[in-house]
Amino acid sequence: MNFNAVVVAAGSGSRAGGPKQWRELAGKPVVRWSVEALRAAGAQAVVVVTPAGEEARAAEALAGLSGWITTAGGATRALSVQAGLAALPAPAEAVLVHDAARPFVTRAHVEALLAALAEADGAVPALPVADTLKRGADNAVIETVSRDGLWRAQTPQAFRHGRLVAAYDMWPGDAEPTDDAAVVERSGGTVRLVPGDPRLMKLTYPEDFAMAEALAGAARQVRVGQGFDAHRWGPGESVWLCGVKIAHDQTLVGHSDADAGLHAITDAVLGAIGAGDIGDHFPPTDPQWKGAPSDLFLKHAVGLVTARGGRLLNVDVTLICERPKVKPHREAMRARLAEILAVPLDAVSVKATTTEGMGFTGRQEGLAAQAIATLELPAS
Ligand code: MG
Repeated sequence: MNFNAVVVAAGSGSRAGGPKQWRELAGKPVVRWSVEALRAAGAQAVVVVTPAGEEARAAEALAGLSGWITTAGGATRALSVQAGLAALPAPAEAVLVHDAARPFVTRAHVEALLAALAEADGAVPALPVADTLKRGADNAVIETVSRDGLWRAQTPQAFRHGRLVAAYDMWPGDAEPTDDAAVVERSGGTVRLVPGDPRLMKLTYPEDFAMAEALAGAARQVRVGQGFDAHRWGPGESVWLCGVKIAHDQTLVGHSDADAGLHAITDAVLGAIGAGDIGDHFPPTDPQWKGAPSDLFLKHAVGLVTARGGRLLNVDVTLICERPKVKPHREAMRARLAEILAVPLDAVSVKATTTEGMGFTGRQEGLAAQAIATLELPAS
């Protein structure tokens, strides 16, 4: 079932001591966790509903991701959700409504919710109440309340798109629902409970961040890939290395621009996600890649990582040649790589070595490059 998502990030975060959706959690903004996960789970489009005037903060938090747009929310959560629904570029069969403050959505959660929509108008992840419930006032117990049949509803909540829109149209303006299922329930719709997950916790109080940091480690897996490439020297006046054009009395021969540094890094990134090698994605027999700038290959590989909800952590490349001297160009190469990869400068290392006259690089028949890349992906 195809679906869109509305991520509600419009809260002021009064209980968490300030807006929590923009705060960093294990190296990235809270809202980014959800948007990455929903896109990786197959959301066609994600609308992020922000407080009015904070759209730019969302754009900063989501830089480099695709398939999202922002819209300004309203005075209440219900108005914010309706603004998000109205901003969807094209309706899908289903829509997921999610609180930005619940960062740990997985593909499995999304699949269970969509499956439940086969026989319902809506589906919510929910956990049975495990603690004993008390009604109290002024720190005194008034009564113990039966917890039989009581569930804690989480998000994302999934709905048939038309059903949710119609339910909101029928909702009385003066009432304030605390979730979207309540709106569908009131309109007479059926809502299924699917198993919730403690990891779908909502960041509510400042101390919740410590628990979330611990969960964040378990929610990510680190991957490593390596790549190697070599090209032959031929007649020329300049050479491309790590995305930088260097004046030289020879050039590297290849179908593309023969930038062995970028090719090795591209293979390292592809290797880390098990996505084959550069030749699979850009066949040397395909005329459209003749003379192509190799940053295009690397950007494609990084795009595959991003599409899986992943993030490049660092790359380290070694150029193996007698000439040209790499050191004078090293900082320019690092800067260019950081730009192509959209990572901080200290996440990029460029090194060079000779082979002391031995082998094909020593005889100056060609130049070789080897690279390693680490990245993180959502845990499967
Ligand atoms: Mg190559």
